[in-house]
Amino acid sequence: MKNASLLLLPGDGIGPEVIAELSRVIEWFAQHREVTFDITLDDLGGAAYDRYGTPLADDTLQKAKEVDAIVMGSVGGPKWDDVARHLRPEAGLLTLRKELDLFANLRPATCRPALASASSLHEELVSGLDILILRELTAGVYFGEPRGIEEMPDGRRRALDTQVYFESEIERLLHVGFDLASKRNGKLHSVEKANVMETGVFWREIATRVGKEYPAITLEHMYADNCAMQLVRAPKQFDVIATDNLFGDILSDCAAMLTGSLGMLPSASLGAEINGTRAALYEPVHGSAPDIAGQGKANPLATILSFAMCLRYSFDMQADADLLESAVDKVLGDNIRTIDIAAKGVAPVSTSEMGTALINALSTLDT
Ligand code: NAD
Repeated sequence: MKNASLLLLPGDGIGPEVIAELSRVIEWFAQHREVTFDITLDDLGGAAYDRYGTPLADDTLQKAKEVDAIVMGSVGGPKWDDVARHLRPEAGLLTLRKELDLFANLRPATCRPALASASSLHEELVSGLDILILRELTAGVYFGEPRGIEEMPDGRRRALDTQVYFESEIERLLHVGFDLASKRNGKLHSVEKANVMETGVFWREIATRVGKEYPAITLEHMYADNCAMQLVRAPKQFDVIATDNLFGDILSDCAAMLTGSLGMLPSASLGAEINGTRAALYEPVHGSAPDIAGQGKANPLATILSFAMCLRYSFDMQADADLLESAVDKVLGDNIRTIDIAAKGVAPVSTSEMGTALINALSTLDT
């Protein structure tokens, strides 16, 4: 029997509502499958500020470093708009990511069959789509120095950001990419702008070298602008796309929208492997949705699909992850939908009704 330790951080807004449904799913797995969960619940973001006076308490961070994986809801909301910048809810999440050195951000773009008609692209282009964007998260132009807005001696003003990557930062991201491709469909697109950027030339050189260690994986290099075009022209050509922080930010949002609602999008952020385990944070892509918080309208599936990623990548429980994803497909196929994905003419269900339907689907499929 496997034992997995989990830290749950519901956060703010709809976070507690979606994590409540996830807790029921976790309980179902503990009761029906070969796994036990050692669960700790704590606050992050605005909820932590209200309780501890800081968006990430030292004790919470310590727990985060000790567990096998973390699943969070979302942070932020208008209640904390006037709080000092370093104490704002988002600062807690950024510190958590930095402290755990979560450099690899995984954003799947999977088109759930029942939602294929909801995509902005033709159904045949996205039906069956299953791609994974791997974005470098802790370096590149968002962090590079020097940066700023300055005045030149001749009085002209200018702004600058610096795109800088160490070899080791590119290398470790690509190793994660090739590993993921080897567990998926064996194809990796390394995406940069080697035609116009030195960091692109460097990235391509390293990808070629690291790729030689993975002879079973097909490596293709692609310019980021072409990748953006290909994502909307023929997205099914991709398996894993590995790219830097800036291009990954843009391409992952573009790919996400191929698949429908924000309420359906999971993500994972992984850190370095130490003694065989990786720090890992799983979270829905959406925010705290203050406009619907407390109304029972939130779609919990992005968070539940994030947990499926946790089963797959942190606990190596592939069959359980498949089961959970199949349960999501069953519920959607039965036209049980929250308001954000509701089918025409079918009354939407509440957050907890969606949770109940999912539990029932798990029991039905687990024969
Ligand atoms: P949002 O993702 O919270 O909401 C955007 C829209 O999508 C809203 O209309 C919302 O009702 C809807 N929506 C989002 N998630 C949904 C779900 N699960 N089910 C149904 N509908 C859903 O983005 P926003 O409004 O720009 O930001 C709100 C707050 O969330 C801000 O404070 C922002 O800083 C924060 N935020 C946090 C994270 C995070 O915790 N990682 C990410 C993004 C935004």
